[in-house]
Amino acid sequence: MSDVARSTIAFEGRFARELPELAIAWRAEEAPDPQLLVLNQPLAVELGFDPDFLRSAEGVRLLIGNAMPEEATPVAQGYAGHQFGWYSPRLGDGRALLLGEIAGADGKLRDIHLKGSGRTPFARNGDGQAAIGPMMREYIVSESMHALNIPTTRSLAVVATGRQVQRESLLPGAVLTRVASSHLRVGSFQYARASDDMDLLRRLADHAIERHHPSAGDEANRYLALLKRVISVQAKLVAQWMLVGFVHGVMNTDNMTVSGETIDYGPCAFMEGFDPGAVYSSIDEMGRYAYRSQPVVAEWNLARFAESIAALIHEDEEQAVHLAVEALNGFRKEYSATWFSGMKAKLGMPEEIDDDVASPLVDDLLQLVQETRADYTLFFRSLGKAARGEPEPARRQILDLAAFDAWLERWRALSPDAEAMDRINPIYIPRNHLVEEALAAATEGDTGPTKRLLAAVCDPFRERPGLETYAEPAPESFGSYRTFCGT
Ligand code: AMP
Ligand code: MG
Repeated sequence: MSDVARSTIAFEGRFARELPELAIAWRAEEAPDPQLLVLNQPLAVELGFDPDFLRSAEGVRLLIGNAMPEEATPVAQGYAGHQFGWYSPRLGDGRALLLGEIAGADGKLRDIHLKGSGRTPFARNGDGQAAIGPMMREYIVSESMHALNIPTTRSLAVVATGRQVQRESLLPGAVLTRVASSHLRVGSFQYARASDDMDLLRRLADHAIERHHPSAGDEANRYLALLKRVISVQAKLVAQWMLVGFVHGVMNTDNMTVSGETIDYGPCAFMEGFDPGAVYSSIDEMGRYAYRSQPVVAEWNLARFAESIAALIHEDEEQAVHLAVEALNGFRKEYSATWFSGMKAKLGMPEEIDDDVASPLVDDLLQLVQETRADYTLFFRSLGKAARGEPEPARRQILDLAAFDAWLERWRALSPDAEAMDRINPIYIPRNHLVEEALAAATEGDTGPTKRLLAAVCDPFRERPGLETYAEPAPESFGSYRTFCGT
């Protein structure tokens, strides 16, 4: 590829053009001393970028929106949202920008988006900045989720800006370059609905259908079909979070996509000891977004989505509500089916096994794991060894051995497939103490720990010698974990 070609990947401005009411043209703040901290080489290639170009001074400036191709039309996106249940009519990208969409090798459009790129008209009291730590956390956890085959926004790069950011102390600032199949959120629809501009709402829904759920466009009631598709992708997504023990931490409606990708890694964490009530966010005092609450919250958020587009679903309000409620009733069914099928897979059982056999097996096991607060990830991984006739690693983690041995006998009688289990039960997840260690080092200028952690979690199912510490739970000295939303 020539120098010119590789620096001029076409940035489309589709969102900006089709939905100008939701877009404010804006530019990223100039970084005094941009330094590339991490670059996602495989993702860069997938998007058609030359990684060597992105590493060059000019490429780094492109990654943070300081050097844009002429045709690009970067915008701050408007959206509303329920935050911890409270409605904010105007949130929007306070410190973020959509640079534009680019067509990947697969022809699909993907948003190139910045976080930490300076104040926008949506900034309210915020400073528009982001610190290295939280941007690295998003990079690490989102790439780990992707490697776990869970739909998510991706991270292309983190660039230090050379600017200091005031948090509890002064911290080095950074910009995250995020890639997503779009940044359309439930909150985008709430914002459009609140504007009372039905043409805007319809254009937004059509845009979402075309980009994410094109088959909905073929149905007689395309907006009802859109609602059903969004319910379905979110039910599947949250079930997958639950299966790997992921706690999102801030499931506000502005942090829920219509594409079905996980978005906005703030105070998130992977659960270690199995505890359905686990909460990690320091600002979630009521435990609204606790591990076990996630499906119910997702359903609640989807009801807000349904309300936003109800007027498109049927002109008669009563009919619209009836249809929307019926669609929302599908959530539980789809969530449970995905979760249960995932649990069977985690236990190496065939999909067609009888529910009457599988269901008590799953329930009884989770009961035992919960009683002992066994490490969720490590425990399921060690069950693979038990399936191979080596039960000790799993047994060591459970207190009620008589009950567990009886369980093992019932389960092993079904000939669980150990190979299949190892392909679905990860050994390496971004454990909180390792993430914190990596972020602290990156903040001090050493990205080594981040890169080593990434190497482990981006290949999460294949056990490798030398990576033992990445598979172990936090030492007791790490204490009870909280993440802070002061991102
Ligand atoms: P989040 O909690 O990251 O989903 O953000 C919620 C809202 O707060 C969004 O509208 C963000 O753009 C905005 N926001 C968060 N941090 C900042 C900041 N430092 N400066 C400006 N806006 C911010
Ligand atoms: Mg957000």
